[in-house]
Amino acid sequence: MSSYWWSALPPVPLLGLGEASVESFNHYTLRMAASCGLSQAQLHSICLGTSGAPLLKGASALSRSLTVERLTGNPHLRHGTLWAVSDVLHARPYKAGSTRRWCPLCYSDWVEDESREMLAIELDICLVCPIHRCALASHCPACTAPQGVTTPYQKRRACSICGTGLGSSAVFPRLDPFEAWIPAQAEALSQFCATPEQLRVHPANLRTYLSLLSAQAKSSPQAHHLKRLLQQGRAKKDNGRRTLHTLLNACAIQGISVIDALVRPKEAASRPLLGAWTSCEQPLMDVYRMRVWPKRGQLLLSKLTALHKEVFLPNPRGVLGLLNLGWEEMCSHDHDLCDDYDRRYRSQVEPSRLHVLNLAFARVLHLQTALRRQGRRRSRHLEMREAADLGLDTLTSQRICESATWVRTFIEKGQSVVDVVPRSVR
Ligand SMILES: [Zn+2]
Ligand SMILES: [Zn+2]
Repeated sequence: MSSYWWSALPPVPLLGLGEASVESFNHYTLRMAASCGLSQAQLHSICLGTSGAPLLKGASALSRSLTVERLTGNPHLRHGTLWAVSDVLHARPYKAGSTRRWCPLCYSDWVEDESREMLAIELDICLVCPIHRCALASHCPACTAPQGVTTPYQKRRACSICGTGLGSSAVFPRLDPFEAWIPAQAEALSQFCATPEQLRVHPANLRTYLSLLSAQAKSSPQAHHLKRLLQQGRAKKDNGRRTLHTLLNACAIQGISVIDALVRPKEAASRPLLGAWTSCEQPLMDVYRMRVWPKRGQLLLSKLTALHKEVFLPNPRGVLGLLNLGWEEMCSHDHDLCDDYDRRYRSQVEPSRLHVLNLAFARVLHLQTALRRQGRRRSRHLEMREAADLGLDTLTSQRICESATWVRTFIEKGQSVVDVVPRSVR
């Protein structure tokens, strides 16, 4: 298809160039395809002569962005990918997969040619929306179906199974200091990559940072933990590139940003913070994934179970997602609790009505968020009306309002369940 090199695509700009909220290249191609009346797969096959395999695999997003740059005459499309750090980090931070995460408020406030799905959200270390600071969603609020990454642009903001709008159920989690630091790194990295004149980071920078850190670690009482930590995420055949998680862990040791480590490795490694590293024997991200978040999920499910007589038990997949937890992950952590919750959840009403109850739960949460954003107080009267509009009786509506309020309070109050944060990042 190289004979079509001249067949320029329309010069659609990448949204948010230079900003932490830059549009992802994946979203860009979906938007471009829609503006040409094509599917993303058709666009790829015209551009690249391929069958249009999913774009999200990091390496191919990079190489495709360079090809589409030539076809559109837009030299900035690489800034919707991790191109600037692609010699240093390997593609795994893209978390290639078949499901999507999104910000419910970005979807509900969508403005054509302005709103976008962001590069930062494609990084699994991004825990909240860079614009709205609310938790990201990964399941339909009504039927809890996961959503595809390649769903066409015009159809993305409604559930591909039941058609319910995906822009609801926003809650604003309180993050502990380390958790607040993690998405700040995703945003810093995204902004760095989004900067138009940004050159690619040289591989020697990361090598320098890690080797200076290792040298300092030798005299530390935790030398063997640190060594293991710094060795992690090393792929032999990958030219010394590391995962974003490894870089993040190494930066947490020093309490510095990932950009400092990549751009000013000598200064970054020389800060004498290593001694502050006290209690962590595991990489920090793993501590959160394996201990902190499951512990919170456990608390949420067990407290809701205890309240089951007074409140509606919402679909666990949706509420756990707000705590960065998958249902399968939670089940492997505490199988009995999950089994018990799931049984009670399913036996509350006939299975065919669960969809309506979950939808009402999502609408009440949405109403609470909308009122708050308008600076107005909560209104039980309006909440009850949301539920009643779906044909629910007063008692059921009350149980749903109680449940939505309880879940929101639990997540927004923040539950500091494990004290594992090293002083260096506090
Ligand atoms: Zn948002
Ligand atoms: Zn659905």
